[in-house]
Amino acid sequence: MDRLSEALGGPRFWIKRDDCTGLATGGNKARKLDYLMAEAKAAGATAIVTQGATQSNHTRQSAAAAAKLGMACHILLEDRTGSDDFSYNANGNVLLSRLAGGMMTKFPGGTDMAQEMERLAGELRAKGEVVYVIPGGGSNATGALGYAECAHELLSQADETGLEIDMIVQPTGSSGTHAGMVAGLTVMESDIPILGLGTRAPKEKQETMVYDLAVRTLKRLDYDGQLDRARVQANCDYVGDGYGIPTDGMVEAVQTLARLEGLLFDPVYSGKALDGFLKLARNEQFAGMKNVVFLHTGGSSAIFAYPGAFGAQPV
Ligand SMILES: *Cc1c(COP(=O)(O)O)cnc(C)c1O
Repeated sequence: MDRLSEALGGPRFWIKRDDCTGLATGGNKARKLDYLMAEAKAAGATAIVTQGATQSNHTRQSAAAAAKLGMACHILLEDRTGSDDFSYNANGNVLLSRLAGGMMTKFPGGTDMAQEMERLAGELRAKGEVVYVIPGGGSNATGALGYAECAHELLSQADETGLEIDMIVQPTGSSGTHAGMVAGLTVMESDIPILGLGTRAPKEKQETMVYDLAVRTLKRLDYDGQLDRARVQANCDYVGDGYGIPTDGMVEAVQTLARLEGLLFDPVYSGKALDGFLKLARNEQFAGMKNVVFLHTGGSSAIFAYPGAFGAQPV
């Protein structure tokens, strides 16, 4: 990101374009679904059941993956923001999930979504469906393997181009992406620091979630060493009033990258992480480093669910 690097006065900032992974636009859930849907297919699944927030990118990409494999996709949406705005409830990821044939049901905030998924899976099984349940965000050890693979891909690309990465920065939410990256770097014996920028939970809780899942993912990879707890670092100072609620910093950050690099970020995850990233850069937190990579997890289809926050108006 040459123009951003120049605007911030260095170091060189790079971007890993996981917003270009495909599956009804793109985003980080595609790599997790590679592994999750392979399991579903191996189990002979005819339907998947999954859950997320109203504007979940994960459920949108799940609907696309299920469509591609000829499976039914049942989506349980949790109303985490309480917004009654039409765009929030109907446009963006909701619209794209609907286009791909996703069957959506909405639940109030605070619902035990895992329990609701099991209840629906039971009903579908009683009707003869073979059901594969995917946890929120696709964040279990199977899904996280997709990000262990991403870590491998990133380091291979860095090797090929002679890029020495001083740090990786990324959004962290339901934790599979961060945990998979940590697991991947660990098995490759890479000590590149990785910083997760939080989008929901406070730091301590986020780091514990990521650490626990990274340990389970390392087990899946037959790694028999210990994972140092200090390997998992999160900064959760840029969430604002809560999950999915826009902040001024997020809007400014999304605008900045659109204008400097022609890149799109999202209001819930990558845009809030980007806000933190820009503020850390301005506060010289990357001083002394040469190359910092931002892992772009996608989500820009959610921009259309937040037209007001971004100042949408007729020309
Ligand atoms: C889900 C999501 C994240 C967070 O990834 P987790 O694996 O849930 O931590 C980040 N960015 C976008 C755009 C997402 O959809």
